[in-house]
Amino acid sequence: MIKMKMNCVSGFYFDTINTIQALCDKTILKAAFSRCKYYEKLLSRFERDSDVSRINHAQGMPVTVSDETVCILKLALYYHEISGGAFNPTLGVVSSTWKQCLSEDRTPEEQTIRQMLLRVTFSETEINGNRVMLPAGLQLDLGGIAKGYIEDRIADELREAGVQNALLNFGGNILSVGGHPRGDAWSIGLKTPFGTDKECWAIAACRDSAISTSGVYERGKTINNIRYHHILDPETGFPVKNGIYAVSVFTEKAVDADALSTAFFVAGVEKGAHLLKKQDALFACLMEDGSLVKSPELRLDMGRE
Ligand code: ADP
Ligand code: MG
Repeated sequence: MIKMKMNCVSGFYFDTINTIQALCDKTILKAAFSRCKYYEKLLSRFERDSDVSRINHAQGMPVTVSDETVCILKLALYYHEISGGAFNPTLGVVSSTWKQCLSEDRTPEEQTIRQMLLRVTFSETEINGNRVMLPAGLQLDLGGIAKGYIEDRIADELREAGVQNALLNFGGNILSVGGHPRGDAWSIGLKTPFGTDKECWAIAACRDSAISTSGVYERGKTINNIRYHHILDPETGFPVKNGIYAVSVFTEKAVDADALSTAFFVAGVEKGAHLLKKQDALFACLMEDGSLVKSPELRLDMGRE
C-alpha cells in the first residue's frame, strides 16, 4: 500500500497569503488550489474584466454574470439583511479612498467620506436570473465574504476528489475538511492581536468546520497613535470603533464565519452576540481593555488548564 503524504500549497491571492495542507496527491491539491486564480478573476474589484468590476462600472445598468457571482451576491444580500446593514459589501468607493489615503500616511476628510455615503443602498440591488443591477454610485467590495465563499467551494472540490483531511487558511480564514490525519481535530491558534505570528491567546479545535477572525490589527495603519483599520462603519464610512479588538466566529461553512465575523465586528458585542445566537454560530471576542466575551458553549484551550 502506498502511504499518502501531507502536501502543502500556498500562494498570494485576494490580497493575502493562502495555504492549503491536505493528505492527498499533490496534483489533486494543485488542481483545487488553481481555482483561486479563477475566483480572483471573477470576484476581484481590482481585475478589470471581473464580474464585480463589470457590475461596479455599469452605472446602474444590468450586467450578465456567472452563476457563482449570483450565488455570492445573494449570500451577501442575506447577510446585509440579517445584520441590519452592518455587513455592507458596497463600501468599495469608501474603502478605496481609505486605502489610498493610508498609503500616503494621511486620513480622508470627514466631509469627503460623508459625501460618498449615498442614499441608495445595497438592498436595492436587483438580481433576475444571471442579470444583476447594482444601484449607480455603489461599488461592490466583497472582501468581507469572498475568501470564505471560495474556501467552501475549494473544500467541496477536495471532498469530491476523495480528500478526507485538509486545512485551508486564507489570510486567517480557516476551514477544515475532516480532522487532523492523526485522528484528532485540527488545533487552530487564535492570534494575539499585534503579537508575533506564533503568539496565540487561545487554541480552538476545528473539524469539518470554519473559523474566521475580524480584527483591528491585520490591515490598516496607526497615524498619530490612532489605529485606522479596514472594517468600516456603513453609517459613518470610518473604521469601526466600539472597543472590539478582534472577534473569531465559529461555524460549519467558511462563508458564514467570514460574513458573520465582519458583521459582528461592525454591530458590536451586544447586537453581534444576538445575531450569532440566531444563526447558531459561536464567537470569542477580545476587547481593547483585555476582557473576553464569548458564547458560553464555546470551548477554548486558554493554556491554563
Ligand atoms: P479580512 O478580509 O482581513 O479577513 P474581514 O473578513 O473582516 O477581514 O473583512 C474585511 C474586509 O471587508 C475589508 O477589507 C473590506 O474589503 C470589507 N469591508 C469593510 N467594511 C465592511 C462592512 N461594514 N461590511 C462588509 N464588508 C466590509
Ligand atoms: Mg469577514
